[in-house]
Amino acid sequence: MKTWSHTDAAHAGRDRFRQLGVHAPPVDLSTTYPLDSLVSGTASLDALVAGQAAADNPVYARLFNPTVARWEQAIAQAETAEAAVGFASGMAALTACLLAVRDSGSHVVAVRPLYGTSDHLLTSGLLGVRTSFVRAGEVARALKPDTALVIVETPANPTLELIDIEAVVAQAGSVPVLVDSTFATPILQRPLVHGASLVMHSATKFLSGHGDVMAGVVACSESWAEKLRQVRVATGAVLHPWAGFLLHRSLPTLKLRVERAQQVAGALAERLAADSRVREVHYPGLQGKDPLRLLGRQMCGPGSVLSFSIAGGLRAAASVVDGVELITPAVSLGSTDTLIQHPAALTHRVMSEADRAACGIDPGLLRLSVGLEEPEDLWADLDRALFDATRDRASRAA
Ligand SMILES: *Cc1c(COP(=O)(O)O)cnc(C)c1O
Repeated sequence: MKTWSHTDAAHAGRDRFRQLGVHAPPVDLSTTYPLDSLVSGTASLDALVAGQAAADNPVYARLFNPTVARWEQAIAQAETAEAAVGFASGMAALTACLLAVRDSGSHVVAVRPLYGTSDHLLTSGLLGVRTSFVRAGEVARALKPDTALVIVETPANPTLELIDIEAVVAQAGSVPVLVDSTFATPILQRPLVHGASLVMHSATKFLSGHGDVMAGVVACSESWAEKLRQVRVATGAVLHPWAGFLLHRSLPTLKLRVERAQQVAGALAERLAADSRVREVHYPGLQGKDPLRLLGRQMCGPGSVLSFSIAGGLRAAASVVDGVELITPAVSLGSTDTLIQHPAALTHRVMSEADRAACGIDPGLLRLSVGLEEPEDLWADLDRALFDATRDRASRAA
């Protein structure tokens, strides 16, 4: 698989910097722009409201921002897309996709498991969409005449299941497929190459990478991008230029971070899998955890998020989360440091208990987003927290 190179990462979105006479991406904080003439201003306004990528004049910051546009251009290149559209958060990006497909129907087919709030947005009916939740093999059967979108997340959250994008695309026929590729980043997976129409990221995670930016992005064809920009202009779910700048700044090191964290995660996954206190480890890089053989074909590595379940249910899991010292007990993922969280109590709490169970989210499941630290230091912290959590149980049983 041809991947995005370190050279690409270092230069993407910086094409005109020499002419501009700058080395770092300029941050444009203007909310409004002086117009050359009323006629040309009106023409620019019309173009941007219709979803054009750019115009002679940005007119107003809800319509266009050059700092954000440079980062979008870089993400489009990374995803092999014609265009990318940035949003205020991952959920704003998913919302825009759901609104953008509404003219072709109000039914959505979603492959579970999905990120908890994505699941909630679809279940709640907030946007007027009806959703059929299915397993990956049931997509074709769930299609209806008004199905406007098929949604999959791979690797899936929090079970790290890999879903075969090409197989889902084949089942979807003429219905566009959206892939939430947040866990993979364009470094490890490029869903458009496998036939997806829309690739979405919570850029809050790896793309920002330092735990200090909220953002979302969708990479797609220019015609999809036009619709998404129309939605963004109308709903105002814009990405702030400071966020655009920070995201662009994070891009040259994305590949380095993803590859290093993946190495550390691999080492931890092996140790957890060999540990008798751990019931099961979910990590595509472990033997038997990639039954469809998608590593190498769809993904060029298993990434750096893993989950594991321990005996003793919620009580023991809570003890691990409360007991770690180096690792931060916190939701989110894709940061430079390692985070641990409890999906049933936090990220997937908005789902019903039955839905959680159907997705394999048991009360003893913990999710680890592995950072850039030394594996030995992370293991020492986990080992001690696991010892305390399971010692409680052992002494009660005695
Ligand atoms: C975090 C996340 C989202 C939501 O993104 P926000 O930036 O928090 O709005 C969606 N999908 C996945 C897989 C996520 O991890």
